[in-house]
Amino acid sequence: MPFGNTHNQMKFNFAPGQEYPDLSKHNNHMAKVLTEDMYERLRDKQTSTGYTLDDVIQTGVDNPGHPFIMTVGCVAGDEETYELYKELLDPVIGDRHGGYKPTDTHKTDLNPDNLKGGDDLDPNYVLSSRVRTGRSIRGFCLPPHCSRGERRAIERLSIEALASLTGDLKGKYLALKNMTEAEQQQLIDDHFLFDKPVSPLLLAAGMGRDWPDARGIWHNDSKTFMVWVNEEDHLRVISMQDGGNMKEVFTRFCTGLTTIENLFKEKGNAFMWNEHLGYILTCPSNLGTGLRGGVHVKLPNMSKHPQFEDILGKLRLQKRGTGGVDTAAVGGVFDISNADRLGFSEVELVQMVVDGVKVLVEMEKALEKGQAIEAMIPAQK
Ligand code: ADP
Ligand code: MG
Repeated sequence: MPFGNTHNQMKFNFAPGQEYPDLSKHNNHMAKVLTEDMYERLRDKQTSTGYTLDDVIQTGVDNPGHPFIMTVGCVAGDEETYELYKELLDPVIGDRHGGYKPTDTHKTDLNPDNLKGGDDLDPNYVLSSRVRTGRSIRGFCLPPHCSRGERRAIERLSIEALASLTGDLKGKYLALKNMTEAEQQQLIDDHFLFDKPVSPLLLAAGMGRDWPDARGIWHNDSKTFMVWVNEEDHLRVISMQDGGNMKEVFTRFCTGLTTIENLFKEKGNAFMWNEHLGYILTCPSNLGTGLRGGVHVKLPNMSKHPQFEDILGKLRLQKRGTGGVDTAAVGGVFDISNADRLGFSEVELVQMVVDGVKVLVEMEKALEKGQAIEAMIPAQK
């Protein structure tokens, strides 16, 4: 488990150039933006909770990235991080979120009635549908930086709030440390639970500290609504079910999320949010809505088409393997989800998934019959 020394004060005995990380082989947004001058200007600052520039960038220093996969390369340790280090983070956010500007404002729309259609994705192709987001509780450090006590307080607040859920949303909390290895693995294999923090991106960001203390999953009785506690964000809220009824999934997501937000607010715990960045989360890539709406969908022919990537880009969608981020697709089944998070509302993002997946399934059916799909290729969204 990597160990951080970012608070070593001896570093100020060295000139900024002597402390500046070697980013010459790096392909991540942080490395593209950070300069030695900027490092010099920011390196002796810290947020009121003590989060430094070296903390912000360490994961991107330790993980150069991949020539084809552009990672973000930095994380926030508290809400103030985005303000104090905006000289670095504003351009990173702009690069990652399609030119989003420091003066732009973000919009929220969690009214599922505004989603058009979405209840009829073909279940012969769409195996499951899911929508997730993250939420952070104001006044507490984020997972890369939180103390054990803070993390346990987040867990306690979550258990209290979630225990008030009723009806379809009624459920129970399972702490990771009270699960057997087999129980945990079963939940991971069933796609309900986050994986162990094996990714070097997470580990270098400090998110594996004290594992599994104060981590857990809350799920409703039918395992269609879950809340992950203290993984990459304080809370990850997820709605999912088998088949292609994204409308139902999104409706449950909005209802559950709004209920949870109110339960936290009643206890004086607001979620981190501002007009510019929307909901504040650990990874700059998740700012705004934090929403990833996606389906597991069978595209064995489509995924072999030379224009597959290009078509996904036009639809503003991304692909992953079905075991989660960083996994490969098996048997032509992909996790297809919205590529954007910030600058579009929740409804707009889920609409892109619903509309885009319909197009992909139509194309898959055409290819099955040996037909050409060129005429079906959409314009850039
Ligand atoms: P995220 O970070 O957006 O929650 P990950 O890629 O880390 O997503 O995956 C987390 C887990 O959620 C994995 O087990 C993955 O298989 C599961 N998952 C993601 N999308 C779907 C989906 N549409 N249907 C079923 N499981 C899904
Ligand atoms: Mg994840």
